[in-house]
Amino acid sequence: MHTTVGIKHKSNILSLVVDLFTRKELKQAGFTFSNTQYTTAKKKASQENFSLCDYQRHRPLSKAATSTEVKALVIKYLYNNSRDSCATIVDSSLANEATTSMEYSSSAVYYLEIPKRDIYKKLQADYPDLKLCLSKFYKLCPKNFKKAHKKTDMCQVCIAGKKAERKLQLLLSRANYTIANRKQLEDAVHLYQQHIFFKNRQQQCYKNSINRTTSSSCVVIMDFKENLKIGGGPVETGANFYHKKQVSVLGFAVHYQDNTGTACIRYFDYLSPILSHDSLFIIGCIRKFLAHSFMADFSQVCFWSDSGPHFRSGELMHFIFEQLPQLYDKQFYMNYFVEYHGKNIVDGHFGVLSRWFKEAEAVQDIHTIEDLLRVFQNKAQAQQYHNKTSYLSTEFDLYLRPEARTHIHKLRVENFGSYLCFIRVGNKLFASTLSTLNSIDYAKVSFKIQKVKDNRKTKYAPEYQVIDIDVPIVVGPQSKVTLLNRVKLTHADTLAMKI
Ligand SMILES: [Zn+2]
Repeated sequence: MHTTVGIKHKSNILSLVVDLFTRKELKQAGFTFSNTQYTTAKKKASQENFSLCDYQRHRPLSKAATSTEVKALVIKYLYNNSRDSCATIVDSSLANEATTSMEYSSSAVYYLEIPKRDIYKKLQADYPDLKLCLSKFYKLCPKNFKKAHKKTDMCQVCIAGKKAERKLQLLLSRANYTIANRKQLEDAVHLYQQHIFFKNRQQQCYKNSINRTTSSSCVVIMDFKENLKIGGGPVETGANFYHKKQVSVLGFAVHYQDNTGTACIRYFDYLSPILSHDSLFIIGCIRKFLAHSFMADFSQVCFWSDSGPHFRSGELMHFIFEQLPQLYDKQFYMNYFVEYHGKNIVDGHFGVLSRWFKEAEAVQDIHTIEDLLRVFQNKAQAQQYHNKTSYLSTEFDLYLRPEARTHIHKLRVENFGSYLCFIRVGNKLFASTLSTLNSIDYAKVSFKIQKVKDNRKTKYAPEYQVIDIDVPIVVGPQSKVTLLNRVKLTHADTLAMKI
């Protein structure tokens, strides 16, 4: 048998008998084999590897070609932790069945609800024996699973509404459905359509409001940028990577027309070590912003923001409609985008800031908020020089808030959340569910003013000493013991003597 078998299986056959006889006995019994073949057979016998499979070079699991099952598993985990985009037309399959059977489509776009790293951890916890390293996992993630950057990607109403629409279509295509089921789905679809109506109309109102700006009437969009992390530079050590400090950025984009009737945009960004993105932060920045000489020429200021709780608050309403009219002889408007659809021009500007930050960090250390301020100011100046404009397109300032919190003043309006636009005329407050600026859409709303104690805690980025990050190791641990012992053993008077 050993002599007739193919060369690649000789050691396999030999391995069956190799432990029973000595090398000599085997030779005497008529086996012919080389030394290598004998050693291989011995090895196979000790591993109890008695198979006639073709020889394969041993590869560590992580280097082995990842099977399609692992890839499928990765996709399944990504899929279960993401939403399908409301902007993508997914195939006719129904999302509600996704819980039972996966209907992943490589042409659809999915937005991950949690970071990829966390999905990897879940997968690892469920399959502890699976040999899959994080970098390989990243490689296996298809490109159509994206991080949700824009707030619009995460609009629950749009996502659920699209699902309800598809379910209703499918239900109607089948003969056997209950009236109650149909009614429920129709109601859900109806709500979704109303949401879309307000979203679209309010976006149109926003565009109109920008088109209506003049040299004395401006539109101001305010938004928080995702925090920046300072403390890095061209050479990053492990230590300063973990000691990065966050910086808040609140941006104002001002749309207006210059004296020649040309539409212009200018940005004002406030950098702060304060991490509590509350109404007090916004109020402090609006104060600084309106005090800027550039804002002096406007008699009408139309604020726009998303419906985040720090913007949509009685506190901000009080500031805009009670306090600002006492400080400035201007007409103020407050407008809100429909929930989760506040994506606006500031997002694009924030992208520029992130790029400037990355570019600067690659060539210099940015340790303090003042460093960051200078970096941005230099970038803006370079841009002005490059574009040959007569003014800086972006101005930067710090917001530090030296004063302590005392009280919160609130202007409370009934059904506040339902309105998207507010204007104060004299002592009356008018509100509308759309920013049409058409008087028939506006109703007088009653309001109450409240004063409560401000018990909120201001959250700051933790302080750390930049120079202390990398403490030079003067002596090693063993030498340290020796040295300290030496100190102990030395007379105090001697130690007190100057070298
Ligand atoms: Zn939506």
